[in-house]
Amino acid sequence: MPGRREVLKFAAASLTLLVSRVGAGATAAISILAVRVWPARDYTRVTLEHDQAIKYSHMLVKDPQRLVLDLEGVEFNSVLQMLPSKVIDADPYIKLIRAGRNKPGVVRVVIELKGEVKPQVFSLQPIGEYGHRLVLDLYPLEPIDPLMALLEKSGESPLKAESALDGHAKAAERPAEKPAEKPEIARLVTIVLDPGHGGEDPGAIGRGGSHEKNVTLSVARRLKEKIDATPNMRSVLTRDGDYFIPLHQRVQKARRVQADLFVSVHADAFIKSTARGSSVFVLSETGASSSAARWLANKENSADLVGGVNIGVKDPYLARTLLDLSQTATINDSLKLGKHVLGELGRINTLHKGQVEQAGFAVLKAPDIPSILIETAFISNPEEEARLNDEAYQDRMAEAILKGLRRYFAKNPPLAKSKLARLD
Ligand SMILES: [Zn+2]
Repeated sequence: MPGRREVLKFAAASLTLLVSRVGAGATAAISILAVRVWPARDYTRVTLEHDQAIKYSHMLVKDPQRLVLDLEGVEFNSVLQMLPSKVIDADPYIKLIRAGRNKPGVVRVVIELKGEVKPQVFSLQPIGEYGHRLVLDLYPLEPIDPLMALLEKSGESPLKAESALDGHAKAAERPAEKPAEKPEIARLVTIVLDPGHGGEDPGAIGRGGSHEKNVTLSVARRLKEKIDATPNMRSVLTRDGDYFIPLHQRVQKARRVQADLFVSVHADAFIKSTARGSSVFVLSETGASSSAARWLANKENSADLVGGVNIGVKDPYLARTLLDLSQTATINDSLKLGKHVLGELGRINTLHKGQVEQAGFAVLKAPDIPSILIETAFISNPEEEARLNDEAYQDRMAEAILKGLRRYFAKNPPLAKSKLARLD
């Protein structure tokens, strides 16, 4: 961290630079407008938002491990001075950040790391409320595997992932005080819950200032607790914190844990504050069921642009998904699931539309996992925004979704799964 004297020196240097630049008739220095740090177990992201396109270079340096970033033509301002204070102790990857003027016209940002990382450094064009952004993503050398995390937590070995039934049989063998009950769901099912948005992408913002990303996470966490407390059901969150995950990676996580169902949780928004009610969407192969559904799918799919995806990294999974032909059967199951959940939501809230709608949501594209997207309520409607922030209402919302899931499984019992874990 630069001491006070060094900061003064920087200030003096930038003043000199400013004078010489003005003298040479150069363009104004680039200003960093905001700095944000999004720490998470999956990866930590550092975002520098600035007013003009920026020229930068970066390098990894050892002993101690650090990422060095040089920014050209940037003024060392109070926003950059704040950068060190943005790091929290619990950050899995960043020990500390220093920033200062390295040589005339160059600001150097040094990120001291807690261990080796695989960095991705890329820039994003202005979109929505955001100006230019320079993004530094710090990934672990070995990516976090959601399947391993799930098995570690439940103390299972990969081959015993379906041991819940065995456990039930053993319990029945014991001299039983009461007759063994048949579990409602015949085998252990895994439900992936996807809290929409996160990190750089706040989702819709209510008039009272609440962010969709926070509401979706609260409802999903409550739903997870309820699912995990239900015999033969368990759940995995695509994110359990405030950070961004690209849409295709949410799908990929669900496939990796061999999810039986995928449920994406959102909150709707519209220009008119009177719009209200819950809705449920599934994927469409042939086009949206209404222009409103198409509009919404486009809006939700733009999350990647706002949240920030490194387009330099090719995604082999995406190409293969397009070739998959099993989608029709999966969509039929998704429609059944959607109907049950919509029916239960109708008991606790107005329905925005009386039937399940369809459109091309990117997050619902797992070819083999029935997937739904729930718009819990309109965050743009002040009354519904207040309810979305109410803990008791969040709990009722989660309870209604759980009931819908259970009804689906009661009508569509899960088939036995292959013993072999899918490794893609
Ligand atoms: Zn959303």
